[in-house]
Amino acid sequence: MNAMNFINGIFVDAIDGETIPNINPATGQAIGTLSRSNHRDVETTVRAAATAQQDWSALSMLERADWLDRIADGLEDRKEELAQRESTDTGKPLALARRVDAQRSIDNFRFFADFARKQAPEVFEMSDATNIVHRNPIGTVGLITPWNLPLYLLSWKVAPALLMGNTIVAKPSELTPLTATLMCEVARDVGLPSGVLNVVHGYGPEVGQAILEHPSIRAISFTGGTATGRHVAATAAPMFKKLSLELGGKNATIILEDADLDVAVEGSVRAGFTNGGQVCLCGSRILVHASIADEFTAKLVEAVESMTCGAPEHESTQIGALISQDHMKKVESYIQLGIEEGGVVLTGGTSEMTGQVGPSPEGAFLRPTVIDGLKSTARTSTEEIFGPVVTIHRFNSDDEAIEIANSTEYGLAGSIWSSDSNRAHEIAKRIETGIVWVNTWLHRDLRTPFGGVKNSGVGREGGAWSLGFFSEPLNVCIKHD
Ligand code: NAD
Repeated sequence: MNAMNFINGIFVDAIDGETIPNINPATGQAIGTLSRSNHRDVETTVRAAATAQQDWSALSMLERADWLDRIADGLEDRKEELAQRESTDTGKPLALARRVDAQRSIDNFRFFADFARKQAPEVFEMSDATNIVHRNPIGTVGLITPWNLPLYLLSWKVAPALLMGNTIVAKPSELTPLTATLMCEVARDVGLPSGVLNVVHGYGPEVGQAILEHPSIRAISFTGGTATGRHVAATAAPMFKKLSLELGGKNATIILEDADLDVAVEGSVRAGFTNGGQVCLCGSRILVHASIADEFTAKLVEAVESMTCGAPEHESTQIGALISQDHMKKVESYIQLGIEEGGVVLTGGTSEMTGQVGPSPEGAFLRPTVIDGLKSTARTSTEEIFGPVVTIHRFNSDDEAIEIANSTEYGLAGSIWSSDSNRAHEIAKRIETGIVWVNTWLHRDLRTPFGGVKNSGVGREGGAWSLGFFSEPLNVCIKHD
């Protein structure tokens, strides 16, 4: 199927008529095309969004919350199709796409609708005056998202942006256009006013760049790689656009010597290899206390070797294809680098080492890989690989674990596994990161702040943080008579 732009309530081709092939990474086959848009398409879109903004912002937040519920209902009706499209676009297991991507995309709309209904007026009394804080919309906002959790991450921005009265120009990843298209079909079918939600497809340096540069787009919410994020900031900041940047990660999974080993192994596998390691929150560096390291590592390798890799459509598949052949080559180059840096591959490796994993030689399949013996400062141990590769590092004290955890340029997430949650909590407070889980991973309460420090980003999303980002507070101070 072909993914066209959705502008002012209708699906249209790019003005220049150009397209990009859309490849299913599990088969290597083209499954359709997407529009290859540029600044001319963005110009048209911004005009439509600006026109729609007045009526949309005139609705109350509660009325807009009802629209979010209608979109959630529409997505729910097409949930299976949503999961199928996500799996086809990304190569991820269909079961995962059902459980995580489809469900969470619906949940994001429902969550923000409910959250809006729980908002209390912000009023600050003084002895002689009353302050009333209004949350005004920003106007037209630009949303730019990656390929790893396509609609999950896009809906996480679309829902609060709409709720706060903004209109949207969104650009999904050029590798995964299909579920953004489904969301637009739903928006059209439920009767969302034209021009409120617009999607323009294409390459980052073309259509993405035009969004960054357009003077009428007053805020950019970006999720993607750190290098792209640096470019986004350099382009948008001098125009004083509001910026939210959710970037890369190289997260530590810390196993203390008092952890329940079976629970820690199961958690480390989930943290390391969910979505083939292509989640920004994945625990790709496993830090384990030296006294239990050998036993832990043996169990980890056994668990990883029992994972089912292969065709995304099979119910039992735990690891499907990576997003593309190019990305797989990048991941393989890091495994090779790990070997050159002195690492020992305990299981997995490049496809040359392990042979064909998936059903098709054209598919981007790679066995989950565990590398031991690397210095914690090695490039393989500190740079984001974003694939099914974890490295193992030993420590002898809590201080050493914290030092290793903090020795990357990133600071997005992490997990600590211990039977002493107070001790784990003390360690968590000293890790330079945005979120730490204790004895769990990816356990999300959508009201809590989500985001990173250092090169993992600027700002937070979630609950009140999202409402804050997508609005401009106006304080009215009324002097008492
Ligand atoms: P990417 O940075 O290559 O692309 C992200 C988006 O930016 C895409 O839509 C792309 O087309 C667009 N883009 C590229 N160049 C652009 C430009 N010049 N102007 C405007 N837009 C441009 O990232 P990716 O490969 O799609 O995603 C993987 C990365 O995303 C990883 O680093 C991962 O850690 C990160 N990520 C972070 C989070 C988070 O919440 N922190 C979540 C998911 C993914």
